[in-house]
Amino acid sequence: MKDTLKHRGMRNQLVDILISKGIQDKGVLEAIKTVPRHLFLDSGFEDHAYQDKAFPIGAEQTISQPYTVAFQTELLQIKPNDSILEIGTGSGYQTAVLLHLKAKVYTIERQRELFKKTKLFFNKMGYRPKKVVFGDGYKGLPDQAPFDGIIVTAGAPKVPKALLSQLKVGGRLVIPVGVDSQIMTLFTRKSEKEFEKQELGSFRFVPLLENKN
Ligand code: SAH
Repeated sequence: MKDTLKHRGMRNQLVDILISKGIQDKGVLEAIKTVPRHLFLDSGFEDHAYQDKAFPIGAEQTISQPYTVAFQTELLQIKPNDSILEIGTGSGYQTAVLLHLKAKVYTIERQRELFKKTKLFFNKMGYRPKKVVFGDGYKGLPDQAPFDGIIVTAGAPKVPKALLSQLKVGGRLVIPVGVDSQIMTLFTRKSEKEFEKQELGSFRFVPLLENKN
């Protein structure tokens, strides 16, 4: 599959939809305009790629809805060279959006099949995350911490303490919290011991799974 003028046209339309839903960050909109989302789906589902919808990617997982990707990314307030940890690599689309914003990205996936497939895909496409890790996102990535931002792309029944502890002071954790549906929650580390918590609306994610392996 290629990236054509038609795909670019569809991405421009998608960006207009995201603007109408309230996304404002220029860098985030530019990333959505640039990253070829259709290449992150199996061929044959191309037509679905630029609708503002989640979509199955195998192994009972989904590529997040573009609005959700944009909303979470906007909350991270990424500056070039920020180190960002992503929990739930999935299709790699969110990773690519973070890379477009010039973040150093560390990403963790706990389904081996998806991990392998997406790692190969990154190589093929020339996307260069700092690390693609097969492991449990509940634990974060202590040897690469602290991070400027952490983004969790699956619904967390509870907030993993390890993730809070791996934030820099001033760093942000964006995490959907809840079981059946989730409240998008932003934690900002104010000092070694203090975190500010903001709740930013209801979303629906596949679950962040514990102890599968
Ligand atoms: N960011 C992805 C969204 C994928 S859906 C994208 O843009 O496509 C959420 C992903 O989180 C799934 O791939 C799922 O396998 C993964 N996941 C679930 N629990 C996890 C855990 N404990 N650690 C790491 N990844 C996890």
